[in-house]
Amino acid sequence: EAKRNGRNRAEWFSPAMAAASIAEKHILYELRSAITNGNFVPFYQVQVDARTRAIKGLEALVRWKHGEELKPPGAFLPTAVTNGLIDEIDEIMLRLVLADLRRWQAEGFALPRVSVNMSASRLSDPDLEEKLKRLDIPAGQVSFELVETIFLDELTPEIRANIDAIRSLGIEIEIDDLGSGHASLLGLIKLRPDRVKIDRQLILPMLDGLPQQRLVAALVDIARTLDMEVVAEGVETLGHADVLASLGVDLLQGFAFGRPEPAHVVEKRLEKRHTTAP
Ligand code: C2E
Ligand code: MG
Ligand code: MG
Ligand code: MG
Repeated sequence: EAKRNGRNRAEWFSPAMAAASIAEKHILYELRSAITNGNFVPFYQVQVDARTRAIKGLEALVRWKHGEELKPPGAFLPTAVTNGLIDEIDEIMLRLVLADLRRWQAEGFALPRVSVNMSASRLSDPDLEEKLKRLDIPAGQVSFELVETIFLDELTPEIRANIDAIRSLGIEIEIDDLGSGHASLLGLIKLRPDRVKIDRQLILPMLDGLPQQRLVAALVDIARTLDMEVVAEGVETLGHADVLASLGVDLLQGFAFGRPEPAHVVEKRLEKRHTTAP
């Protein structure tokens, strides 16, 4: 027994794993200081009306300002999640998004809704309502994207209360990456989100054949029944866009309509509210 443990231990501390763990610790150390200094920036990706192709929403996606580099979420969110830092990053992002919204408002842009990703863990924060109230979020302007892991367990009374609080502040609720995780019909019926986003993995193979398209059509049917809007994510070609529009999807998001861009770039695509017409 001792011998087996010894061997396992030797494997555990292999040089490759030790190096990985040092790298991980280094990211964690840098991430902590990035949180202290607020070194994050939202990029925005447009969501367009499937029929008119007018911009109806923006999704805010976090980037880490790391020296000259902008690191994508895949490079640091897993570390943030395992070390309990994701809620702080989400809070920073929300503040940055609200600052952009206020500036756009002041500069006369017609504001689309902005969707902000929120980790499921934040829904268990007993102070969430107070924190959100302090941020003075303009009603009807912001939406939270939640991933399906919130359906893993029964909706606890705490989570339920936070969802109700979010709604009462005029913030919409969306289910992100629908079809890739744990959403159940029962979960959707209980939660009644305002909007669902069909996962990219279901959208990309859509031009391959009828079964894929009928799957999306079925999701649209379910969404209609539950009075939810439907967004398709990962729309990479106009061919996908046309099929999705014909299937009744409401909003399209993907490289076909724009990559995630910094605020000063995406705002060039927003309309102005008042035109100083001659
Ligand atoms: P997501 O919320 O599903 O966001 C969509 C991701 O798909 C983004 O990746 C976006 O750049 C990418 N994407 C958009 N259109 C296309 C397309 O046509 N084709 C392909 N192949 N990809 C496309 P990104 O920015 O790297 O974000 C990855 C994930 O990180 C997000 O997935 C979200 O789950 C998470 N995330 C991003 N920002 C935040 C945040 O502020 N808080 C939290 N908790 N999670 C975030
Ligand atoms: Mg999202
Ligand atoms: Mg998504
Ligand atoms: Mg996704």
